[in-house]
Amino acid sequence: MSLAEITARLRKAEQAASRPAGSVQLIAVSKFQPDERVEAVLQEGYRLFGENRVQEAAGKWPAFRERFPGTEVHLIGPLQTNKARQAFDLFDAIHSIDRPRLAQTLARLAQESGRCPALFIQVNTGEEPQKAGVLPGDLDAFVADCRALDLPVQGLMCIPPVDADPAPHFAMLAEMAGRNGLSGLSMGMSDDFETAVAHGATHVRVGSAIFGARN
Ligand SMILES: *Cc1c(COP(=O)(O)O)cnc(C)c1O
Repeated sequence: MSLAEITARLRKAEQAASRPAGSVQLIAVSKFQPDERVEAVLQEGYRLFGENRVQEAAGKWPAFRERFPGTEVHLIGPLQTNKARQAFDLFDAIHSIDRPRLAQTLARLAQESGRCPALFIQVNTGEEPQKAGVLPGDLDAFVADCRALDLPVQGLMCIPPVDADPAPHFAMLAEMAGRNGLSGLSMGMSDDFETAVAHGATHVRVGSAIFGARN
């Protein structure tokens, strides 16, 4: 696969769902990829990337950004509170808000600086004990808490359980976003992004299908 092929599949999925071409943002997930592969995609003109770890992103994106202006990088992996400031400065969006303490820390940083990355709340739709994310039953209260802190919550994010049919998880996330008046839906990866688009994804996070297997 390549970026061009994935983009073509995404356009088809948008069309099949009667959604405007380009209405879904393709986040090219560059975690654990060698710099040459990432640079090749930047050279093709692509400018929207996702990273899983603050440290890894801090090591590679400041230099790439200087060489390729207009590049956006989103944090899609878990965020420890003690890395919140670094993440706040490094990323254009954070997809993994999942607890009050982190929300409070980001709210303080936003107040100090007068700006804030776009924020997505991660929901643990499969209620998996080892997985990050707010439990579905706690979501509405957490959205209200974030709003009370003036955080710019744009939408919800989920990672369905590995061996499950992702469709019911995407449907659940869309329903929860709708009832909370949130327009963003970050869902769908290499193996299921077309299903996610059919369920209303606004952001799909695709790594290995674009860049190849990770190290
Ligand atoms: C790694 C990762 C992806 C991309 O996974 P692929 O299967 O390589 O497309 C998407 N979302 C999150 C949260 C990830 O950690």
